[in-house]
Amino acid sequence: MESKSKNKSKSVGRVYLVGAGPGDLGLVTLRAKECIEQADVIVHDHLANPEMLGWARDEAEIIYAGKKAGEHALSQEKINTLLVEKAREGKRVVRLKGGDPFVFGRGAEEAKAIVDAGIGFEIVPGITSAIAGPAYAGIPVTHRAENSHVTFFTGHEGAEKTESAIDYAALAKLGGTQVMLMGVERIESIAREMLKHGVSENLPVALVRWATTGRQETLTGTLENIGRRVVDLGFEAPAVAVFGEVVALRESLNWYEKRPLSGKRIVVTRTRRQASALSDRLRALGADVIELPTIRIEPPSNLLEFAELVQVAHAYDWIVFTSPNGVTAFFDTFFKLYDDAREIGGAKIAAIGPATAQRVKDFHLHVDLQPDEFVAEAVVREFQKQGVENLRILLARAEKARDVLPKQLSSLGAIVDEGFAYRTVAETRDDTGARRRLLEEGADLITFTSSSTVENFLALGLPWPKRMKVASIGPITSKTVRDHGLNVDVESRRHDIEGLTEAIRSFYAKGAGNG
Ligand code: SAH
Repeated sequence: MESKSKNKSKSVGRVYLVGAGPGDLGLVTLRAKECIEQADVIVHDHLANPEMLGWARDEAEIIYAGKKAGEHALSQEKINTLLVEKAREGKRVVRLKGGDPFVFGRGAEEAKAIVDAGIGFEIVPGITSAIAGPAYAGIPVTHRAENSHVTFFTGHEGAEKTESAIDYAALAKLGGTQVMLMGVERIESIAREMLKHGVSENLPVALVRWATTGRQETLTGTLENIGRRVVDLGFEAPAVAVFGEVVALRESLNWYEKRPLSGKRIVVTRTRRQASALSDRLRALGADVIELPTIRIEPPSNLLEFAELVQVAHAYDWIVFTSPNGVTAFFDTFFKLYDDAREIGGAKIAAIGPATAQRVKDFHLHVDLQPDEFVAEAVVREFQKQGVENLRILLARAEKARDVLPKQLSSLGAIVDEGFAYRTVAETRDDTGARRRLLEEGADLITFTSSSTVENFLALGLPWPKRMKVASIGPITSKTVRDHGLNVDVESRRHDIEGLTEAIRSFYAKGAGNG
């Protein structure tokens, strides 16, 4: 009895069966995002875009349940047990499933297991690939003039079934638009069965693979030739197939695959935290972005020494920041030492680049000097104009940075101290499978946003994918690229993320990237 009341006083867990949508992060519902943000445990599938795991709390336990056809990380029974067990521990369990949880995803079985165990649950519907796939291929599943109903069916046959689970006679009679999930690898025999049951050999068919992601591809044909085409082109799962006259509308309504960077796979090499700005911009233009973290920001080797400089920052005439990371590291330390921003005293602040300046402004401090060009040499020129003889300058920057600044400022007569605020180390983890994707699928272009991203990417020792071109944020990064024996194909004229995005867009607009 006693133990029972104890159990009751413990918070009761709950399972959220959440639809992760078809792949595009923008197609995730607000409720799904909320659930992910609050989850204690997340059990996710092969088809749920792993990037949304970035919304989870750091402490959340993340479990991969599979399943790519044929390679189940966990059996269905184990998944059901896992959900129940974690909920019984009092946890908020999010079961994240591709598309909609109740459309061919065995969500119904999971819900049943949860309810049978007496555990509370919630269903968060998602945008199913059955609708989003066609839509992103420019195929409306209904059209007033073409059809008055849509059918979803699965092309997957349970292994235990001896007879076909698909009622071809009924499908043939029904007509309308028919959307098939799973079973791309059996499309040839499925089409043959449909023909046998009297469906026209000219019926338009489309297959959309990796719909709504940067890797979306669409293959069209007729009932008569689609099977051959799939084999010839090696068109693979996951894909949705659409059978019906509406497929022809794609000719005028195809939009997603026509964006400026559609079909281009681009590697973004940055630290986890910084990657998204560039990735977001490239994705918005249609690129398939592989976000490959090569470096991670760590505290400096000698934090104490840095902290001592930060402590006396008010004694300097100028503090110079060369990167947003330097600003963050500086103020993280500063506000551990002081609880009042005024302790910075009369020190003036210089920042290289708009992102660095913005990070300073985030701390509600004024940037006194921000050169038009975003390189160290430009700061030196500005200081030369103003005259810095006998002025005390504190440089807050990364370990192993170039010595242009300390050398040249000293030669102008300034008294320069270097504070090593952080260091960059090679990123060794591959949580999102980015490294594996690069190795398996290659890429069209890689972006480098600093010399250290070049060095750190090469330090990973990954084989260079055939035909992968290089885009660099500016001349200094480009020099590092060339010093390593590589070519620079794109160089940004404005040395920031926007400039780099624009340079890549115009590179491909000119058709330069083709071939
Ligand atoms: N619950 C999911 C479907 C799960 S069954 C949903 O509502 O979308 C798995 C099948 O869904 C795959 O074999 C494929 O046919 C389809 N699928 C899921 N995501 C897809 C995507 N991004 N592109 C194409 N097909 C997808």
